[in-house]
Amino acid sequence: MSVNIPESPRRRIVIVGGGFAGLQLLNHLKNSPYQVVLIDQNNYHQFPPLIYQIATAGLNPSSISFPFRKLLGRRHDAYFRLATVRAVYPKEKYLQTSIGKLSYDYLVLASGSTTNFYHQQDIAANAMPMKTVAEAMGLRNALLSNFERALTCADDKERQELMNVVIVGGGPSGVEVAGAIAEMRRYVLPSDYPDLDAGRMHIYLIEGSGKLLNAMSPQASAKALSFLHKLNVEVKLNTLVKDYRDNTVYLSSGQTIPSLTFIWVGGVCVPALPGIPDESRGPSGRYLTDSFMRVKGLEDVFAIGDCALISGDMHYPKGHPMMAQPAIQAGRLLARNFKAMASGGTLQGFAYQDLGSMATIGRNLAVADIGRWHFSGFFAWFLWMAVHLRSILGVHNKLAVLFDWMWSYVTYDRSNRMIVRAKLPAVLQERRQREEETHWGDLKGPDQR
Ligand SMILES: Cc1cc2nc3c(=O)[nH]c(=O)nc-3n(C[C@H](O)[C@H](O)[C@H](O)COP(=O)(O)OP(=O)(O)OC[C@H]3O[C@@H](n4cnc5c(N)ncnc54)[C@H](O)[C@@H]3O)c2cc1C
Repeated sequence: MSVNIPESPRRRIVIVGGGFAGLQLLNHLKNSPYQVVLIDQNNYHQFPPLIYQIATAGLNPSSISFPFRKLLGRRHDAYFRLATVRAVYPKEKYLQTSIGKLSYDYLVLASGSTTNFYHQQDIAANAMPMKTVAEAMGLRNALLSNFERALTCADDKERQELMNVVIVGGGPSGVEVAGAIAEMRRYVLPSDYPDLDAGRMHIYLIEGSGKLLNAMSPQASAKALSFLHKLNVEVKLNTLVKDYRDNTVYLSSGQTIPSLTFIWVGGVCVPALPGIPDESRGPSGRYLTDSFMRVKGLEDVFAIGDCALISGDMHYPKGHPMMAQPAIQAGRLLARNFKAMASGGTLQGFAYQDLGSMATIGRNLAVADIGRWHFSGFFAWFLWMAVHLRSILGVHNKLAVLFDWMWSYVTYDRSNRMIVRAKLPAVLQERRQREEETHWGDLKGPDQR
């Protein structure tokens, strides 16, 4: 197998990752004098802000995902390859991917971040992260299967484990998924599982610091807490999770909670990529760059989005928030800078323009900080919906999401409650396994990743 990109007189930009940052760069390099290659481990772009609605049966995965090949259409200057990048060889200027080697003139790392379990092995092995569409589907299956089993199990202790939900991390993802599960308990459980006592289902949200939504205003944090109380979510602030084993969550307060649904949205980090030296990485493993997004110590390697810690922006000395807008704005600027490099123009340093932040907790319940303004309740919720609807790629997806939202607003229903388990035929499973085991280049094997 080979990456199979045609040779071209144009200089080649390889983008690793088609998230918010990579996709902006790809789109804005249209009709540029470069050959552009996008590598992603998925064949679709995903929209993480709505992933929690996949996990809680509010939306279908296809509504928030968009295939890269459809985006590229007939562009003659851009290629997509489905592959995982395993290592970078900056001196030789090539990548080792799961489908072979690929050379570059310029490399852009836009590979986002991954869930941070802070080296806690038991938790990493047994908790459910919620960072990707695939993980959200796993979480939805677990949640719905646990309700089914709670109905039929004979043991009271086991039923409590099946019904309790523990969420770790009081940032936007934690707050949003806690609110959505609380609404499932209120509206879906009584109609779908009338034999199950919904009152026995406890939802806990655990946060290590003294407030929720740490990156937002004190007003937004306080409102989010009161909205969650309204939905009967048991919020535990200043509390750490010490361990998770034998279906039990151990808290720093000494309390234990039996639960088979242990959701971890407690932080993110950037995983190590062989070939990128330690000196080029900063806090949370992010790649250190100058204001032109060039990775420290490496020639012709750039980083944008969650994985980049861009310096030189005086308002963000510790780096920009790991959010969609910084990723989008950096992708757009880097495309402009690449064009300037080709035409001998001047490069522009990155300065993030904060457009505000929001989080939704439930029906008519959201918080929004826009500049000096703080909104909450119905108006913030409406604003949240409008902003997200506008940002989703594709007219079909926008309409699908709008329809599902309207339907559940009117009916109080969540219509995507199937437990779907993917299954590949044996011959394809073997092939995938073989692919996993090959194309490691001079890396010795998966352990050295
Ligand atoms: C559940 C959730 C909710 C969020 N809600 C919000 C919100 O409401 N508002 C907001 O502003 N931000 C939100 N964020 C954060 C926001 O999604 C990220 O900041 C943003 O996606 C970062 O964009 P990115 O392009 O850097 O990375 P991503 O969007 O994460 O894209 C990275 C891409 O790289 C690919 N990739 C990774 N490693 C490899 C590899 N080795 N080889 C090949 N491909 C690879 C991945 O498949 C992915 O497509 C949320 C995040 C999550 C997880």
